[in-house]
Amino acid sequence: MKLMLHICCAPCSVAIVDKLINIPEIELSGFFYNPNIHPEEEYIKRREAVNKMASDYGIPVTFQNESGLEYWKNNLSREKEVRCRTCYSLRLDRIAREAKEKGFDAFSTSLLISPYQDHELIRKIAEDTANRYGLLFYYEDFRELYYKGKNLSRAKGYYMQKFCGCMYSYSESDHPKKPIYIFE
Ligand code: SF4
Repeated sequence: MKLMLHICCAPCSVAIVDKLINIPEIELSGFFYNPNIHPEEEYIKRREAVNKMASDYGIPVTFQNESGLEYWKNNLSREKEVRCRTCYSLRLDRIAREAKEKGFDAFSTSLLISPYQDHELIRKIAEDTANRYGLLFYYEDFRELYYKGKNLSRAKGYYMQKFCGCMYSYSESDHPKKPIYIFE
């Protein structure tokens, strides 16, 4: 099965990649499409970490660079439920389109590893998206791998972010080591 994995960041994807590359029936590729990561400085840090992870594991990853900062500012609500639903849909639709165009059988997403995301909503949107594109959605509850991913990332020196991604999640994060960014 040719499987395209949507990669949101290195810490969320490394344990999934580590698992999937050892399944002989799966031919794995990654796709980095995350216009929800703001600002550009943060985006670059996460993209570079994914680049390093891809090289460490020897998997091909396509990077689709696009900044969604203005879109988030102008169109998305501060209300978490509404904006996250849009954020999941945008990214999953793009990965499905890419998978379809490139002749993949299935897609999945590293968002399924996070205990902090709305897992069931991601699953539902991904299944609906897969049906629309005539693809398989490869589902596994990857949450059991969450701490393995964090440990692997620490060991390999991948950048570990301190907020989910968008400008609103930056202001919601109370992580003491959050970088200082100014959103105009
Ligand atoms: S909080 Fe995270 S999932 Fe929700 S809109 Fe922001 S970046 Fe996307």
